[in-house]
Amino acid sequence: MSVVNEMPRTVRTAEELAEIDRRVLVHPHHHGSRQERITIVRGDGCSVWDAKGVELLDVMGAGNWVAQVGHGRRELADAAARQMSTLEYYTSFDIFANDQSITLAQRLVDLAPDGLDRVFFTNGGSESVETAFKFARLYHHHRGEPDRTWFISRNLAYHGCTFASGTATGFPGIHEGIGPEFPNVARVSTPHPYRAPDLCPGRDLTDFLIEELTATIERIGPGNVAAMIGEPVMGGAGILIPPADYWPRVRELLSRHGILLIADEVVTGFGRTGAWYDSADRGMRADVVVVAKGLTSGYAPLGAVLVSDAIAETIAGRDTYLFHGHTYSGHATACAVAHANLDLLEQEGLVERSRTIGTWLSEALALLADLPIVGEVRVAGATVGVELVADRETREPLMADWVTVALRNDHRVAAREYGNTLVMAPPLVISRPEIDRAAQALADVLRRRP
Ligand code: PLP
Repeated sequence: MSVVNEMPRTVRTAEELAEIDRRVLVHPHHHGSRQERITIVRGDGCSVWDAKGVELLDVMGAGNWVAQVGHGRRELADAAARQMSTLEYYTSFDIFANDQSITLAQRLVDLAPDGLDRVFFTNGGSESVETAFKFARLYHHHRGEPDRTWFISRNLAYHGCTFASGTATGFPGIHEGIGPEFPNVARVSTPHPYRAPDLCPGRDLTDFLIEELTATIERIGPGNVAAMIGEPVMGGAGILIPPADYWPRVRELLSRHGILLIADEVVTGFGRTGAWYDSADRGMRADVVVVAKGLTSGYAPLGAVLVSDAIAETIAGRDTYLFHGHTYSGHATACAVAHANLDLLEQEGLVERSRTIGTWLSEALALLADLPIVGEVRVAGATVGVELVADRETREPLMADWVTVALRNDHRVAAREYGNTLVMAPPLVISRPEIDRAAQALADVLRRRP
């Protein structure tokens, strides 16, 4: 037995934890050169504490766009404990289900835009995207169009990091070193209004993007494309809000060619951008919607894929066998936690509150208006991206990693950078003073640019 296993899993010093961490833990999405370790041990409201007892203001939803209802909510812990002591888990394969997954599926459908009638549960975002891709191909296959195997995604999209979802992800580095990827994924340009002058000087951005998408579909062959996937508002790309006519025109083009539209609402769903499902507000009329993160506020791993009756009947109807499922699909405890989470979102009006938080963010971040390194501030409900530039004229990107470090070290504020954009996505219970504190901290850090 190793030394680590012999040690009781009781309280350890911050230094011990960091040392064990460095020795045995492989961190996801981590650059090996970063030796610093931060061990988070407790959370309450919008605060988390590290193992040294240092309190951080969490303006990034537990670092990962979750924590909609804030940390340490007794209601969710009680729901998990109740469910675990009643029925922790039983398979959902074949004829089985549990009361929590059945009622949660109904609840998700009730909240969803029209035309999304059935739910398949997964363990998170990447698995939901994998499932959506498989469902799209199966749908076309069963309807006699087996050549529809291609997917279209967008540069700078984040759809996960398993093979198919990772191939669809449009971050350049994610494709390096892993050999051949999932086949038949094409990527098109990002709807990034601030960067449009570089992409299509003098042109209307949506016109350009629709022309590019049309050309891509024609190049692949319209009868070979299964689906396009997109985040309604792109999160990891730095809160990119497309022009209002973008999604309606994409939708119309795809419909003309019998191509499905998958809305990736892993970030935007459950109030993050001010709606239960953001895609409905942007005219996507998606055939498939994938969700995760805010569904449980991160209290349990759970994702879901919503589809129409027509898709569900085609791939999992009377005469078909759906050869797809995860051991933990419809996990009873995760679904009970999701119920308790939705209860809080509803009772506390947190989806509506997300829009109010958006107003507070816009007002508080007006402080940044005159700073020469701030290119653009983009607010979508309770999330904001502050894009940094070395020069406002040329819009040359200025990487934002130093901002995250200074916010944490100098102001005890935990945000996150994506390339040259500093992002905040706070719990939907955050107060105005907490928003003001984060905004002032950011202004101070940016003013003191090293
Ligand atoms: N889709 C989007 C839009 C995401 O932001 C993420 C994760 O951040 C994913 C999918 C992947 O989700 P997961 O990390 O739960 O696999």
